[in-house]
Amino acid sequence: MKMKLISACLLGVKCRWNGEDNKNDRAIELLKKETLIPVCPEQLGGLPTPRPRQEILGGTGKEVLEKKAKVITEEGEDVTSKFLRGAEETLKMARFYGAKEFIGKALSPSCSCSKIYDGTHSGKLMAGRGVTAELLLRNGITLREEEDL
Ligand code: SF4
Repeated sequence: MKMKLISACLLGVKCRWNGEDNKNDRAIELLKKETLIPVCPEQLGGLPTPRPRQEILGGTGKEVLEKKAKVITEEGEDVTSKFLRGAEETLKMARFYGAKEFIGKALSPSCSCSKIYDGTHSGKLMAGRGVTAELLLRNGITLREEEDL
């Protein structure tokens, strides 16, 4: 059976930074035909829920993996190591299940597959993937964003 990983918040799991979910009806509908494994990289990395908002400062998930950018909370705390750990743990889950595709939550500094906030905590967007999405892509996993469902 083909398995896919999905951002857990899209299935209604309340793992979002503010303790809520990002339930997506199309993702729930997909559950009827496909086996989706819910993962929350930020929780897997050891971050609490709720937690302060976080953005990548100085680049995208790519630069975070290359140690050229950091993930910073709106309170100024550096949570880069937690994001890297969460990305590694998510990759581990993909390998356990032989998942070849990841459906990611848009705009997340972990899960987004196309656009993220620019690190200024001012609502501005830029092109780029989240840290986990980038690591999964580098390891041969196809990315699909919630908006493409
Ligand atoms: Fe959802 Fe991903 Fe953020 Fe977890 S890290 S709350 S799965 S977008």
